[in-house]
Amino acid sequence: MTVSAATSDVTSSPGRIHIIGAGVAGLAAALRLRHFGSRVTVYEAAPRAGGRCRSFADPQLGMVIDNGNHLLLSGNHAAMAYLAECGASDRVVGPEMPEFRFVDIGSGQRWSVRPGRGPIPWWILNARRRVPDTGIADYWSVVRLLHAHTDATIAQCVDPASVLYRRFWEPLTLAVLNTAPEHASAALMRAVLQETVAKGADACRPLVARTSLADALVDPAMATLAKTGVSVRVATRVRAVTATGISITSLTVEDEEVPVTPNDVVILAVPAWVAETLIGGLTVPPPGEPIVNVHYRLPAEFLRPDPVEIVGVVGGMTQWVFMRGEMASVTISAAGAVEDLPAEEIISRCWPEVAAALALGTIPVPPARVIKERRATPAQTPAAVGMRPEATTRYNNLLLAGDWTATGLPATIEAAVRSGFAAAALATARPGKPAMASSHKRGAA
Ligand SMILES: Cc1cc2nc3c(=O)[nH]c(=O)nc-3n(C[C@H](O)[C@H](O)[C@H](O)COP(=O)(O)OP(=O)(O)OC[C@H]3O[C@@H](n4cnc5c(N)ncnc54)[C@H](O)[C@@H]3O)c2cc1C
Repeated sequence: MTVSAATSDVTSSPGRIHIIGAGVAGLAAALRLRHFGSRVTVYEAAPRAGGRCRSFADPQLGMVIDNGNHLLLSGNHAAMAYLAECGASDRVVGPEMPEFRFVDIGSGQRWSVRPGRGPIPWWILNARRRVPDTGIADYWSVVRLLHAHTDATIAQCVDPASVLYRRFWEPLTLAVLNTAPEHASAALMRAVLQETVAKGADACRPLVARTSLADALVDPAMATLAKTGVSVRVATRVRAVTATGISITSLTVEDEEVPVTPNDVVILAVPAWVAETLIGGLTVPPPGEPIVNVHYRLPAEFLRPDPVEIVGVVGGMTQWVFMRGEMASVTISAAGAVEDLPAEEIISRCWPEVAAALALGTIPVPPARVIKERRATPAQTPAAVGMRPEATTRYNNLLLAGDWTATGLPATIEAAVRSGFAAAALATARPGKPAMASSHKRGAA
């Protein structure tokens, strides 16, 4: 299913709308349904909204940090609409023109990939703009990727022995799909290329939160919802979802039994691994790889003029470095081999790579904090993509949202927002005629 980010046309009117989960998907659904005001309730198990996209005050570093570096691209049109709807478009920042800088830690070589203005990548013809030690023929891999079968992995489209694989496709795949190219779905990468690179430079600008994820993606949404009377109940876990026949009939919200009528709508916007515990017989993709982030607080003299710098690192433990204000943050995706290492070891091994990537010279390891997100994304292999459910379910008043649903995109903010917008649009449409389902009550631990 390819879901649309168009503003929902509130033509028919459901009764109450229960949204379970206040990650980006649940918040996006709530934003689109905010015109229903107090008839919309969002239940969030954690003390704060945001889910896998959150910020918190770190006493050790003495600053607010994000659970992990999150990159948006200007072509993420649903995410841009989400920001605009809560007046937060200026809370993400990035360079005027897209430029992706890389350094090879082994050879010391540096290069930049700068997509051209138009859809045809003329820059490939210019040897100085290509990735070092690659030829024009290597870029034929893009064509193979764009025509890949749904069962194909990225490594089946790009020669794993090539320089372009090591210096471009591998870091790009890890960043976008949190999966090594040998296992990652080529179809998901194709969707990203079609919505960004194939549209030219204006769709490829990298954007990050100006100060924090909460400041950009969570607080403005919460403020907008509060203004319209939507209730977001944090620290409130939905423990069970009860169905009778083809309808959801109640929610167990902490210890309270909340009735749900057939005219009400439930939008389940929890992670896949929670959804399958709440809804019997639901097929979901399995969890994917962890992501490890290391945040270093740099001395004030290293502050940069640019609001953000992003450098891809080839040949080290570090994969990407994000420099924002006093913070240099490392991202290590598909981090199965790193997640069980002691934090001190990760900090000391990544630091020389960060210092090299940002040309900081030789300085002692600054204060740092490691965050290991063990269930960062669902798996993004071709098989796992085939397990993603549509938004509609066999229950006539239950819809699904989340980065793990069938959006056709990698599990990202863009996918989460689109799924939330799509669920909101469906919530206001006349429900379909689902197949009969047996009565059940399922609960989450
Ligand atoms: C370290 C890291 C780096 C990432 N980097 C990027 C990036 O660079 N770019 C990008 O686009 N994406 C990135 N992502 C992915 C992105 O964060 C997710 O795709 C997105 O946040 C998922 O949103 P969601 O709403 O679908 O799910 P979630 O954020 O998981 O939200 C689900 C919510 O449901 C709540 N919940 C769970 N159970 C219950 C219950 N029983 N009752 C009530 N509430 C419940 C949870 O507490 C949570 O708040 C990254 C993720 C991580 C972890």
